[in-house]
Amino acid sequence: MPTYIVLLGPPGAGKGTQAKMLVEKFGLPHISSGDIFRENLKNGTELGKVAQTYMTKGELVPDDVTIAMIHQRFARPDCTPGAILDGFPRTPAQADALEMMLRDFGGHVNIVPFVTAPVDVLIERLTGRWTCKANGHIFHEKFNPPQKAGICDQDGSELYQRDDDKSETVTRRIEVYFQQTMPLVEYYKEHNLLFEIDGDKPIEEVSAQLMGALQK
Ligand code: AMP
Repeated sequence: MPTYIVLLGPPGAGKGTQAKMLVEKFGLPHISSGDIFRENLKNGTELGKVAQTYMTKGELVPDDVTIAMIHQRFARPDCTPGAILDGFPRTPAQADALEMMLRDFGGHVNIVPFVTAPVDVLIERLTGRWTCKANGHIFHEKFNPPQKAGICDQDGSELYQRDDDKSETVTRRIEVYFQQTMPLVEYYKEHNLLFEIDGDKPIEEVSAQLMGALQK
């Protein structure tokens, strides 16, 4: 049976960083809805153009567009053993759609690690975050600076600040999270799938908590 892990939590909680660790451990594909939108944006696709109008404002891309995009991603053969989902679902409608999709693949959501951190920590992390252009490796100007300013330690590519990591947009993204994504915490709690992880800790400690939850 395939294994599906859904990483839930506000922007800046560290879901992307932890997802990369899980990918290495479990060999499952990392499905990040934000990364797929950014890839489309970079390639100038129609989907990228639609998504951009919402992303730059810190709003969610409409459910029908997002669900169709994830559905297509699941159809690729690397998803046969399962996936690590990061940033999807983000609304109750997306969570329902996910259940239906996974049923078609003979599976269901197995566990939902819920990574949290206080709002001031989220804001500081997001506004100081630098992302690598080639592979999305993540750095922070204060907490995890690259060895050479502006250059990714892992692949030497240029680092950039995401448009939506600028402070006005960050505030809106966090608000949107509380309004539209928080209901999923209750939803997955009721289904006994939720494991709370304290994201306000060093990366290795967060990973250790996550591995502990997954081993249960
Ligand atoms: P992220 O990289 O996960 O922080 O996502 C960046 C932006 O992409 C979000 O602020 C939304 O505009 C959009 N986005 C990513 N995932 C979703 C989703 N599941 N539903 C709607 N919009 C999304």
